[in-house]
Amino acid sequence: MIRPAKLIERKRDGAALSDDELSALVLAYASEEVPDYQMAAFCMAVYFRGLSAEETHALTDAMVRSGETIDLAPLGRKVVDKHSTGGVGDKASIVIGPIVAACGVPFAKMSGRGLGHTGGTLDKLESIPGFRVELAAGEFIRHVQEVGMAIVGQTAELVPADKKLYALRDVTATVDIIPLIASSIMSKKIAGGADAIVLDVKVGDGAFMKSLDEARELARTMVELGWLEGREVVCELTDMDQPLGRAVGNALEIHEALDALEGSGPPDLAELVLGASAHLLALSDLGVDADEGRRLAEEALASGAARERYELWVRAQEGDPRREALPRAPMVRPVPAPAAGFVQGIAATDVGLAALHLGAGRIRKEDAIDHAVGVVCLAKRGDPVEIGQPLAEVHARDDESAARAVLELVDCYRIGDGEPEQKPIVLDVLS
Ligand code: URA
Repeated sequence: MIRPAKLIERKRDGAALSDDELSALVLAYASEEVPDYQMAAFCMAVYFRGLSAEETHALTDAMVRSGETIDLAPLGRKVVDKHSTGGVGDKASIVIGPIVAACGVPFAKMSGRGLGHTGGTLDKLESIPGFRVELAAGEFIRHVQEVGMAIVGQTAELVPADKKLYALRDVTATVDIIPLIASSIMSKKIAGGADAIVLDVKVGDGAFMKSLDEARELARTMVELGWLEGREVVCELTDMDQPLGRAVGNALEIHEALDALEGSGPPDLAELVLGASAHLLALSDLGVDADEGRRLAEEALASGAARERYELWVRAQEGDPRREALPRAPMVRPVPAPAAGFVQGIAATDVGLAALHLGAGRIRKEDAIDHAVGVVCLAKRGDPVEIGQPLAEVHARDDESAARAVLELVDCYRIGDGEPEQKPIVLDVLS
């Protein structure tokens, strides 16, 4: 018989819990035998006391066992997956999937929705008219087999413990805890069935991890969890001190993903996508290293094979792949630069919030989102700007929300004298 109060007390006092204790706690929470208030207290104890590597693994393993897992073995191939810890303007998976699939490697991804200032891949995909993100496990596997890729929503049966725990953490100030983030992400990746995973750990203002040191610790924890579960993991640490690419908002991000697939995407997005694709191909059963993987990825873009694969994939999930089918906001307003100089920085979180206030994201889980609205950052860090030059474009539903977003965006941009030091998009790679 589990005694949650005793486990909370022991964790509060800094003791290590056994595998069996952690497993019993997580499974009892998933089956509603342990109430939210006790689990919240446990998470707060973990916030202050941490979890050892062994405890983090026991927690992850129990989360996986709380629900169903996907068996991709019938595909008879090494299957790859890619995941990001969440950022602003991150449409990378929508470009990477078709590249990797065009290179002949099966790509199977279960994805989430946006919450707060970060966007979710599922919401972006749902801006494509007709696109179905809810596929049953059998359909998911069939799509990967027939089209080479699928990106779908996580089914309710996959890691139900995380679904409950994440919602609880979100409202109890216990999201930004490395062992809890690592177990949340890795339990879903492990249950999703892929053999090899590239993780994009975002670092900076718009990310959970604000410093490179914290991001490295999260990356190391996730690589180790993967290894303990028999999965190969490569972690890229990438810059989230400004939005990725230019577009922030669902349909606008699909347009930009298409630009990237057509070779005309923003340079930071193009570089991130090629790096991640190279690692995924190196992890696959093609028998290539990352340099050769990058060459194959570049070829898939240059030949149009990745663009074609996007069409096949979107049609397979019942979406309309034409650009003109994407929804458009009724008004577009410029954000004029208040001063001349160089863009020193763009507050990524606040750009995400400006898009959210326009209706591109949700404040509460049940909120509906407006797929057409958002922001396009025309100027990025390091760009010279003249006074009055448009820094960004606001795509809005009405005048009032457009005017508010323009003011919010002016505040997101830091303009000053002198060109700031350039920062690469990929800051480090761990495996
Ligand atoms: N993404 C997740 O899936 N879980 C976390 O805890 C944080 C980011």
